[in-house]
Amino acid sequence: MIQIDGVHKLFGELHVLRGVDLTVPAGSVCVVLGPSGSGKSTLLRCVNQLEEIDAGRIRVDGELMGYREETRDGASELHRLHPRKIAQQRARIGMVFQRFNLFPHMTALENVMEAPVQVKGRSKAAARTRALELLDRVGLADRAGHYPAQLSGGQQQRVAIARALAMDPDLMLFDEPTSALDPELVGEVLGVMQDLAADGMTMMVVTHEIGFAREVGDQVVFMDDGVVVEQGRPADVLDAPTQQRTREFLSKVL
Ligand code: ADP
Ligand code: MG
Repeated sequence: MIQIDGVHKLFGELHVLRGVDLTVPAGSVCVVLGPSGSGKSTLLRCVNQLEEIDAGRIRVDGELMGYREETRDGASELHRLHPRKIAQQRARIGMVFQRFNLFPHMTALENVMEAPVQVKGRSKAAARTRALELLDRVGLADRAGHYPAQLSGGQQQRVAIARALAMDPDLMLFDEPTSALDPELVGEVLGVMQDLAADGMTMMVVTHEIGFAREVGDQVVFMDDGVVVEQGRPADVLDAPTQQRTREFLSKVL
């Protein structure tokens, strides 16, 4: 489903991704671990084309995302996709961030209905029915009329997940979805993500929740300094890491 080959990303002089290779098969969960600043968020943003990559290729479901290519005279040429194409590809990818980013002046229901109506042109009635189903799925059927300020952080994050699901994505990207939550609220959000995984959603999850990585991940990827240092099955990477950098990181978070 996601194929990342030799991806590089620079911010000016700062070489943030230094040749990342990674494959996430359809219906599987890839958990990305790594210290702060190692390029995890940048990698997710590249998959969602919020950043343009400077070398390499990213394919989602076989479809090539925009890329840059060296020309013969040593200059580089950007193969940008048509904005309409990018919008189409992005619509297939749901993204959930550390901060919930709900619209504060809209109820939970309105937040979930917004994109299907505005972006997909669904009727309000159809969007409402679907939004209520999704709120029920994340355990918030009784909070549909609440505004974000009236919800806990965990509830807000579950609304954010429902909102992403409302676009019927083929793929969900999570960037530290529980890092901003009080510890007692982490479990309810991870539970929703676990259900989603059990339903067969393809997911890429950046998190420091090792328990989630172990139980829900099909593969665990450890990134450091812009490269994939180690990847494999959770039990292998977490219990028997072969790389010193992975061992050091795990000894700090476990
Ligand atoms: P992580 O998510 O693993 O903590 P990030 O992908 O956020 O790492 O960041 C990797 C590096 O790229 C950091 O040094 C960060 O400061 C830098 N960086 C991220 N986004 C930008 C940007 N838009 N402009 C400049 N530097 C950035
Ligand atoms: Mg990050």
